[in-house]
Amino acid sequence: MAGPGWGLPRLDGFILTERLGSGTYATVYKAYAKKDTREVVAIKCVAKKSLNKASVENLLTEIEILKGIRHPHIVQLKDFQWDSDNIYLIMEFCAGGDLSRFIHTRRILPEKVARVFMQQLASALKFLHERNISHLDLKPQNILLSSLEKPHLKLADFGFAQHMSPWDEKHVLRGSPLYMAPEMVCRRQYDARVDLWSVGVILYEALFGKPPFASRSFSELEEKIRSNRVIELPLRPQLSLDCRDLLQRLLERDPSRRISFQDFFAHPWVDLEHMPNGESLARATALVVEAVKKDQEGDAAAALSLYCKALDFFVPALHYEVDAQRKEAIKAKVGQYVSRAEELKAIVSSSNQALLRQDTSVQGLLREMARDKPRLLAALEVASAAMAKEEEAGKEQDALDLYQHSLGELLLLLAEAPGRRRELLHTEVQNLLARAEYLKEQIKIRESHWEAETLDKEVLSESVRSSCTLQ
Ligand code: ADP
Ligand code: MG
Repeated sequence: MAGPGWGLPRLDGFILTERLGSGTYATVYKAYAKKDTREVVAIKCVAKKSLNKASVENLLTEIEILKGIRHPHIVQLKDFQWDSDNIYLIMEFCAGGDLSRFIHTRRILPEKVARVFMQQLASALKFLHERNISHLDLKPQNILLSSLEKPHLKLADFGFAQHMSPWDEKHVLRGSPLYMAPEMVCRRQYDARVDLWSVGVILYEALFGKPPFASRSFSELEEKIRSNRVIELPLRPQLSLDCRDLLQRLLERDPSRRISFQDFFAHPWVDLEHMPNGESLARATALVVEAVKKDQEGDAAAALSLYCKALDFFVPALHYEVDAQRKEAIKAKVGQYVSRAEELKAIVSSSNQALLRQDTSVQGLLREMARDKPRLLAALEVASAAMAKEEEAGKEQDALDLYQHSLGELLLLLAEAPGRRRELLHTEVQNLLARAEYLKEQIKIRESHWEAETLDKEVLSESVRSSCTLQ
């Protein structure tokens, strides 16, 4: 009998409408509940014969546990059913398609957008890690988007792969080796750390448009997986140092040298602490209270730094707030704090100018002493270049990079410097550190200002569009 429902599985209480996709183990359909709510859901049909024999029972127990899991970035499992052939998972419907399509229709994602997505993915993985659940099949096809207007990542297909060997009885690899950690493919011995490798591949693909092992043939792919060459990151697009550092540490072939889960969650580029959530506003407010106190006491530098820390939480709080009126109220406050921070900046800056003049004399002395020390001389040159950059409008980030570069060198040289030179060097390092810190704050104030102003335009989807058309 031909008809709209022809060929679709039948399921108690639901009407299946269309096929949404199929993956490694299952086919997923869109459906709605027959009950009065007519709720739209996604139903995943897993053929029992695709499971390891002993696993069906385990899987049912596992599903029961997963049913209890609620997380904003994990696809919710609402219920399940089964019959003689299939297991049906009834899930929250995600209208935005999967991350693979999202990336490829835009070619690459800007670092800012990739970072928001990575925070969301990391928060889901942290939640699972705390419950001892690994994913084992992380890839862009298994990461869904709640909608395209306001895309939120939803991790799908998890806690599931552990019941299925990546190798079937005929020793054929089921998953995609493009995303699997090398130890999974080569040694067939692996643990939760494979998920960190896959996160690295996903981030690489989001930023560079293709996964690191993309190949023209299977033999080329196999060679890339089995080799022990370090994964090289393309030079373009330009990315922050933190971002490159994270990629390199996730894409470490040896699982014992790969970044750990804890270090991943705490990595400065991921920065889960400042991810928009229900606590952002409270933390921002607490910091403002401290800032106001320091301000009243006349400690401009401390107040400025506290205002900046508060802004670090206000911006995520703004992103988190959905109520238009409350959003406006927060925005107005942020505007006030930014203005006060600007005033404080002017105060701190004039005392900084005085420091800068003092600093020139320290630098002059050091330069005298460094005449036959090319490395020290070079590091001091970089520091001067940083100061010059600082004077140029809009070049704060470049200046900061130069400060950090010169500080890295000077700190190394400090350890081996003798007596008087060491003292001077120490003073100079302190000065440069203070200047770098001050610059960081300036950058933060500017960014908070910018973010608060552009928030109406829905930062995420807007910046995806604008930066993609600019490429
Ligand atoms: P498999 O275990 O077979 O890989 P997945 O859960 O990854 O199955 O689903 C396969 C595809 O079906 C996904 O890549 C996605 O395109 C689509 N899909 C899965 N779950 C949903 C959902 N909850 N909402 C919308 N589409 C979904
Ligand atoms: Mg899948």
